[in-house]
This record gives sequence, structure tokens and C-alpha cells, in this order.
Amino acid sequence: MNLGRWVFSSSDDLPKAVASVLEKTTAALLALFFPDDCRICGAPLRNISRVPVCPDCLSQPEPLAADYFCVSCRTPFVNPAPLGADGRCALCRRGLRGFDAAYSYGAYEGVLRELIHLFKYARIRPLAGPLGEILARAIPRDQRFDAVVPVPLHWWRRWQRGFNQSALLAAAIGRRYGIPVRAALRRVRATPSQAGLTNARRRSNVAGAFRARKALVAGRRILLVDDVMTTGATASACAAALKSAGAKYVALLTLARVDRRSWVEPLQVRPDTVGVT
Ligand SMILES: [Zn+2]
Ligand SMILES: [Zn+2]
Repeated sequence: MNLGRWVFSSSDDLPKAVASVLEKTTAALLALFFPDDCRICGAPLRNISRVPVCPDCLSQPEPLAADYFCVSCRTPFVNPAPLGADGRCALCRRGLRGFDAAYSYGAYEGVLRELIHLFKYARIRPLAGPLGEILARAIPRDQRFDAVVPVPLHWWRRWQRGFNQSALLAAAIGRRYGIPVRAALRRVRATPSQAGLTNARRRSNVAGAFRARKALVAGRRILLVDDVMTTGATASACAAALKSAGAKYVALLTLARVDRRSWVEPLQVRPDTVGVT
């Protein structure tokens, strides 16, 4: 290797080296702002956009479909057996939900899941726009709210990610419908990760982890926004905090929910839940 030639390059080589560096930098910058392929399907992107996903992929997510839903939390079921005479699931009947209603756009799978991952984990912040539009479609037209409240992120996670995905989604909803966005919730203690915990464990893990500011929620109808509903434990803890600060009504709005219909959880299969008489 001839280091000397590199360091003391001739006057002819120098402009070439500079040009090459400039070329590479420009290409990197262009790739950053004008990516050439859709991050989901790989198709070339035709329009200049800060969102690195093609319009086809953005229009892919479909609303969650099921024959049987709980009337208040909208949990889908394969048959009507888990629903009581009033159309509510066991958790809602036992008052464990905390919120009055839950709206979710689609199932947490396929393209919708990939979009949420790009937004949250690849930290592609401009996706808040298209995802906010998908989220808006899940709100029933006849509902009115006084405030939009995002589920807060623990400060450490927020710092790592650089933003709270729920706050960006809440802001998109607030702008669209002219509803004030209030950061009314805060975490009063850190909670270990919910991954791998059972429903009951998740509930006790986050119970009492949130406090709500009375001045911002008392007597109001609140639209609580989160990105994904897994078991609903976090949302329940937030709803409980909002209710104890005087909120009149709390509806949860999420982009996607984990569809557990295909899961087999042996401990939960009891004769009364599978329709055996
Ligand atoms: Zn695509
Ligand atoms: Zn329910």
C-alpha cells in the first residue's frame, strides 16, 4: 500500500478525490430524502416524499373484520359464546377494562404491522401523517370528544426513540378534528416490559403506573390514543387514572390490535367460553 501517494496526491488526483467524496455525500443525502425503493414492497418510489413507502402499501391496511365483537372493547371472537347477554366480553363485564369503548383500525399483522414498526423502531417520523389518516378512519362519526390524550412513554424510551409515537398520532387526530391535545397523563413509576406476560400479569404490572391531571380531564370526554392494543392492560391503567381524575368518558383509539382469535390458551378454555352446554 502506498500511503504517500494518498496523502501527497498529485494536483490531478486531488480534485478527483474531492469529486468522489462529494458524489458519495450527495448520493447519501439524496437516498436519505428521496429513497428509491418502498421500504415494504421494494417497488421504486416515483414521487418525492419523506415517507419511504409507496401509495399501494399505504392503502393496503384493511379494517379488522370479525363476525362477533364485544360491543364495548371491540375484541373479536370466533363465536358469540364469550359474549354476555349485553354483548360484552368477560373483561368488560367484570369492569376490568376501565375504558368505556375501544376503537381500533385493523389487526396487528401484515402491512399495518410493518408500517407501525417502521414508524416506531426504524423511527421514520413522517409516517405519523399517513398513520394518523388510518387512525382517523377508526373513530365512529357520531362520537364527540373534548380532548385527545396520548398514552405517555417512559422518559427513557422516549429519549431512546426521540419521540413518543402515541403523541404524534394524537397530534394528527387533534389537528384533523380540531380537538385539543392534552398531555394529561404521566407515568409515576417505570414498568418492566409487558412482553411475555399473561393478561392478568400485564394488568398488575401497569396498575397504578399512571396519574392524570384533574384540571385537564375532569368532566370531559377523553379520546385516549395509543399505537397498538395488545391486551389493553396499559390502556386500562391509563383509563383508570383518567377516571379517578374525574374524566366523564374514556374511549381508546389505536391503529391496530393484536388479534388473539387464532391463539390457543388452554387455561382460558372453559366450558362456558367454548359454548358447550
Ligand atoms: Zn410498497
Ligand atoms: Zn369487551
